[in-house]
Amino acid sequence: MEYTMKDNTQVYLVGAGPGDTGLITVKGLQCLQKADVVLYDKLSNPAFLQETPATAELIYVGKIKNHHSMAQEEINKLLVSKANEGKIVVRLKGGDPYIFGRGGEEAVQLAEDGIRFEVIPGITSGFAASTYAGIPLTHRDFTTNVSLITGHVKTSKNRFIDINWPALATNKGTLVFYMGLGNIDSICEQLILHGRAADTPVAVISRATTANQQTVVATLKDTPQRVVECNVKPPALIIVGEVVSLRQQLRWFDTKPLFGQRILIPHTQAGSIKLSDQLKDLGAETIRIKVMDDQPPACWQALDQAIEQLAQVNLLVLKNPACVDGLWQRLNFANKDTRALAHLTIVSCGCKTTQALRNKGIEADQVINAEELKDGGALIASLPQQQTNGVRILCPTADGDTSTMLQTLQQAGAIIDQPAAYATQCTTTHRDYLIELLKTEQLTSLCLTSAASTTALAELLSSEAPLLSALHTVAMGPATEQAAQQCAISVDTCSDHPTSAAVVASLLENSEKDNG
Ligand code: SAH
Repeated sequence: MEYTMKDNTQVYLVGAGPGDTGLITVKGLQCLQKADVVLYDKLSNPAFLQETPATAELIYVGKIKNHHSMAQEEINKLLVSKANEGKIVVRLKGGDPYIFGRGGEEAVQLAEDGIRFEVIPGITSGFAASTYAGIPLTHRDFTTNVSLITGHVKTSKNRFIDINWPALATNKGTLVFYMGLGNIDSICEQLILHGRAADTPVAVISRATTANQQTVVATLKDTPQRVVECNVKPPALIIVGEVVSLRQQLRWFDTKPLFGQRILIPHTQAGSIKLSDQLKDLGAETIRIKVMDDQPPACWQALDQAIEQLAQVNLLVLKNPACVDGLWQRLNFANKDTRALAHLTIVSCGCKTTQALRNKGIEADQVINAEELKDGGALIASLPQQQTNGVRILCPTADGDTSTMLQTLQQAGAIIDQPAAYATQCTTTHRDYLIELLKTEQLTSLCLTSAASTTALAELLSSEAPLLSALHTVAMGPATEQAAQQCAISVDTCSDHPTSAAVVASLLENSEKDNG
């Protein structure tokens, strides 16, 4: 059968999971990465919008303070009309699309209008919240079944009949109520009234899987009062059943050392992924925002000239993956390949650069860190006869980079050529999202990981930069701290070394101080 465009999926209903950005499926993420249009609401983590192509149209269809949310019929119509424009439409929904939240209604509309759609399941908040609170929804010693129930019941008698309270109260299963916080009094009351023991354990889990996760454990009898005392905020789930008692032994998320920290990491094209992963392992929520893009330099002339004269160079120093990319691009342009580098001693800075070189089929002769790059002394042993005078070093860099590199070698007479291999540019794509985050998301800390991303952050925020002053700010190494000072961003702690391990250590120390 012949393949035609008319067989392509037009709309993807994608489950975004409950909040933690790690809890989306690979398939869901792939849909976002190819979307032309994304319809989203408050329940899915807005960080996912960064995964969409720069050209994607992002439409908020959720509630806006003091305004009504877009009516469901309007959302349905929008899905259909965007699909009919021939666009790839992603409807991003919190948790799983088909567990409450009206995903079923949206799909019915698409089916009725003949739109080809797919549904990508997500981790529903009930499953994620219980897991992150240390509560297995089933356990052989306690229960044989689980019910997912809407707690959005009006107290009018008619609506109450929709829920089979006697069955829920007497079968000893675990009960998971969605949208029940506003009705918690009636829910607990009805269960007791229909025969569930008043001392049955209950957990109310709010803003699960995020830095704000809050878990209140009580009994059916006293839960409504405890929820008020603890000021529990929506969205929240109510879990009723003996399995709740396992939390004491099985909690793992909210006991982590950095739990409760929501850390902003502005990053360059290269990423800060390692730092982010290390912080997440320790229980922090991280929000990475790209503030810079790598671009070709204004002019390739200097690098092209350096490539022409490669025969005279002794040492090639590559600072970062962008330098590797730029150099290879121009080697190709000059119809050359890796063999043109065969005579060189090649030094790479950091593991990402080493990996980028490996991807090009080259194993670096020496790997150094950022401090060693600045000083250069560590390279003397790898120079021909350990001679520095007259040695030619090629060290491609960023356009307009004025930082001093390989200082010791330069002072000892080495000739250092630093042609531009790339340029960086502040990207404003995520400005609105960033400002919204700073205003509403109760960020706790800011990690500045490089001078370049710090400068880009300040440039991006411009007049809104004072919003940063509420955050505990950690700079990765003195060069980053200096850049922050120049941009009037105040730094609380500067790590001794420009490494992610040093930044993590400094955040841990600060959190111990806060908790101690
Ligand atoms: N489709 C979603 C549910 C939508 S209904 C899913 O599968 O999770 C909205 C309800 O989900 C909220 O009222 C709340 O009960 C629950 N909810 C969603 N995200 C939550 C979170 N992070 N923490 C606790 N409850 C959450």
